[in-house]
This record gives sequence, C-alpha cells and structure tokens, in this order.
Amino acid sequence: MMRYPWIHIILFAGFIVFVLLGIRSSFWLVIFACWIAFSLAILIWGSSSVCSGMYIKVICRVNTDEKKMTITFDDGPHPVYTIAVLDTLRQNNIKAVFFVKGREVAKHPDIIQRMDEEGHVIANHSWSHSHWFDLFPYARMRQELENTNLIIHNAIGKTPRFFRPPYGVTNPPLAKTIKKLNLTTIGWSIRSMDTVGKDPEKLVSRIKNKMVPGSILLLHDNLSQAEDILGRIIEMGNENGYKFVPLDELLNIKAYDSN
Ligand SMILES: [Zn+2]
Repeated sequence: MMRYPWIHIILFAGFIVFVLLGIRSSFWLVIFACWIAFSLAILIWGSSSVCSGMYIKVICRVNTDEKKMTITFDDGPHPVYTIAVLDTLRQNNIKAVFFVKGREVAKHPDIIQRMDEEGHVIANHSWSHSHWFDLFPYARMRQELENTNLIIHNAIGKTPRFFRPPYGVTNPPLAKTIKKLNLTTIGWSIRSMDTVGKDPEKLVSRIKNKMVPGSILLLHDNLSQAEDILGRIIEMGNENGYKFVPLDELLNIKAYDSN
C-alpha cells in the first residue's frame, strides 16, 4: 500500500492536471468528476480501514503456521462486565489485551491493577474515545494519548507501548502523534461485531469462519454479553486446537516501555 503523503500528492497532482488542461467539454467534466470521486473513495477507505496502512503501520495479524491467536478487548474498564471477563479468563488461564479508555481508568484503577497482576496486557485506546476524536488536531490527540499512558502508569507503574485508534480510524494528526510517542498501532483481523450482533451463536460462528493462525480478535469488555461471548469463543477455540496467547508473545514485541 502506498503511504501518506505520496498518495495525497498523486491525487492532488491529478486534480491540478485537470485544472490546467481546462475543462473544455462535458467529456472532460465526466473524467474530472470521476477523478474527484476516486480520490475521495481512496481517502475515505484509507482513513476508515484500520489495516489500510495509508497513514500508519498497523499490525492486524501475524504470519505463523502455529494455531495461536490473541484476544483483545476494547472500551473498558467496566466495573461489572470487565470483572466478569477477567474471572472467565482466569478460570481458563488465558492472557488477553485490554485497550482501555483513560477516562475509565481514572475511575477504576483497581481493575487495571488486577489485569496487570493476572498477566494481561494493558494498552492505550485514547482518553475520551470521543465521536469527534478523528477531527481533533495534533495537540489534542497527543494530550489524549499521553494522559492515558500517564494514568495507566500511575496505576501499574508501566507505560503502554500498544495503541489502538478509536473506531479504527487513522489520519495525518494521529500518525504524527503515534510517531512522536513511539507507540505501536494494533488493529485486528477479526471484528466480532459484538456491539451490534445480538445472537452469540451467530457471532461465534462468524468468528470461527474467519479464524486463521496469527489472528487478532476484537471484542468489547463493556458489554453485558461480553462474558457469555468470551466463554463460547474459548470453547470453540479449544475444540479447534487454537491456543490464546498474549499480544506481546504473538508479536514478539514488549508491551511496555522500559521506564
Ligand atoms: Zn473503541
């Protein structure tokens, strides 16, 4: 995939060529309109598809022949549902990754401490997870990510290296922030659709169809059905010979800075 800023330069150069040639006929106007539509489609796809790699290198899965994969949870910690998820993980001796919101960590540092004590990886998922996050300027994005790493550090004494963009959207200000803070961006290869799907059996069957060695599975621990879905996934994974491993082990990258 061609990276930003080259893709922007090429699209803009095409635009300029059309303007310089002059739009003299309806034929040229149609080609010009197609070029604008094509450019917009590329930019929207590049921003909204977390694995596009247009702005940032994003790890979405790992190439391996071993039947191992990683379970990741977003949007917690939740005072009830995350606890239930942690209990299920402990019963099954599985280590997961929690991409947490800084704002929720400030309310529930004890849950983060339990995650750490039980061997799970804690990672950055922004402070507010605002619907407007993608429109934030660089300074505000940086503040969101720095504050989240700081509150996690205050709770467990470690600074996360892994980050997942809210809604999976990437753009130039976020790319600058990631580079500045030296974070590793993590996407997913299986989106469970647990926030919209209501039938756990269908969810698990969908996940099973997409599972391959090295998969990274996206779940949410702030949902009432999180524990039920997790239990079913563990059972299905075990039946199919899959081992659930922590992200740092799957990627062979340290989950925290050494400070
Ligand atoms: Zn999220």
